[in-house]
Amino acid sequence: MAERDVDLFVIGAGSGGVRAARIAASYGARVMIAEEFRVGGTCVIRGCVPKKLLVYASRFSDDFEDAAGFGWSVEKPVFHWPTLIANKDREIDRLEAAYMSTLERFKVELVRSRAIFEDAHTVRLTASNACVRAGTILIATGGWPHYGPKIPGLEHVISSNEALHLHELPKRIVIQGGGYIAVEFACIFAGLGSEVTLVYRGENILRGFDDDVREHLRNEMRARGITVTCGHTVTAVDKAGDEFVTHLSDKTTVAADKVMFAIGRRPNVMGLGLEKIGVKLHEHGGIEVDPYSQTSVPHIYAVGDVTNRVNLTPVAIREGHAFADTVFGKKPTRVDHADVPTAVFSEPEVGVIGLTEAQAREQLEVVDVYKTSFRPMKATLSGRQTRSFMKILVDGLTGRVVGCHLVGPDAGELIQLLGVAVKMGATKADLDATMAVHPTAAEELVTMREKAMTWRRAAAE
Ligand SMILES: Cc1cc2nc3c(=O)[nH]c(=O)nc-3n(C[C@H](O)[C@H](O)[C@H](O)COP(=O)(O)OP(=O)(O)OC[C@H]3O[C@@H](n4cnc5c(N)ncnc54)[C@H](O)[C@@H]3O)c2cc1C
Repeated sequence: MAERDVDLFVIGAGSGGVRAARIAASYGARVMIAEEFRVGGTCVIRGCVPKKLLVYASRFSDDFEDAAGFGWSVEKPVFHWPTLIANKDREIDRLEAAYMSTLERFKVELVRSRAIFEDAHTVRLTASNACVRAGTILIATGGWPHYGPKIPGLEHVISSNEALHLHELPKRIVIQGGGYIAVEFACIFAGLGSEVTLVYRGENILRGFDDDVREHLRNEMRARGITVTCGHTVTAVDKAGDEFVTHLSDKTTVAADKVMFAIGRRPNVMGLGLEKIGVKLHEHGGIEVDPYSQTSVPHIYAVGDVTNRVNLTPVAIREGHAFADTVFGKKPTRVDHADVPTAVFSEPEVGVIGLTEAQAREQLEVVDVYKTSFRPMKATLSGRQTRSFMKILVDGLTGRVVGCHLVGPDAGELIQLLGVAVKMGATKADLDATMAVHPTAAEELVTMREKAMTWRRAAAE
């Protein structure tokens, strides 16, 4: 027998769940939300926010070095990892409290418990064993790091979760993975002074990104002293005293103080009891949903990483909001998953929107490619050996900008704004008609006149 009855029960107080709960409550629904760990979810507690704080920390080493070329003399800077982690944790506590007070303000009832399905309309709170009946249930349980096949010594391996809470900065770290989390952590640790080896099984890092971006970033990372080993995997990890010996598939070994895997994340569906209530999973492992985030069981919805659509915080938030508008605001709302701008907070940073060149060639008849690589102005006096890269892909028949790919300082900030133009359907002529802001790196985006090449399907076939 259910002890409580609500209009909406949300499982998971992360980005998607919190937004959905608050908006549904603002429409007058009685909402309860369960969280088994900490309010705020991956983004706030062990994802975007703590990571970005570490990214900031890691970039000071360059700033100290670069200052010399501008006349500053800085005594050998000393970095203290425990101070960074303690300050980061304080900020995360503050944000968690802010999330909780938002829920309170909107009269969303928060329960600190794991929630699982008892039946299609009832969830069980495992902390108290109490049952709650709900008219609508939203699954917003996010994702979890995946460690790949069971290899010897896997118990020694950490994920990004633990990397954010290490007691000390590892002098040497091996990171397996080639996605954005692996790349970002490689750059964070390198910037803080660790010796970093990045091991990736594919032929180049950042699979799914434009090939020129992948090549450019890999070269930049290597120039910064990161060992990037592609085409290999970690086959075993041995503990030898205080260090770990990582065995690679090419039979070489790398000794390190920490070994981290960031080889992907899996939707958090295990143990929820989805099988018994008939919620279908997609072949990619996420919960299958329609454009309104409705699952195969009509009163059960799912948003965010657990649906494995576009696994980013702003997308989870949009999906949560759209769900609440649709179901409780009576405003059916679909989320547009096309042209989502995104960043990789590597060093240098990556910002992208739209099609890669390979995708543009698959989808279009004619593709005009504009690209440039240049030394950032700051590097002239600092002497830093780094280059920025920008690429614009244009539909050769309509002139519409279909993809932008940036590598360089503040690429994440730039792509957010450029994303507005791309989303509005900007053409290359629109970019050309925009006056440059001088002297900036972004002016390159409106002054690239020379086509690097034109690709034509007819000629390619
Ligand atoms: C290291 C890292 C860096 C990232 N950086 C970025 C970035 O820079 N930009 C970006 O846009 N995205 C980034 N992401 C991705 C982003 O964090 C996620 O896309 C986003 O948090 C997904 O939100 P969500 O609501 O789907 O799930 P989550 O935020 O993961 O929330 C799910 C919540 O559900 C809880 N939960 C799970 N099961 C249960 C249960 N049965 N009962 C109760 N509670 C449960 C979990 O504890 C969790 O709090 C990063 C992720 C990681 C791991």
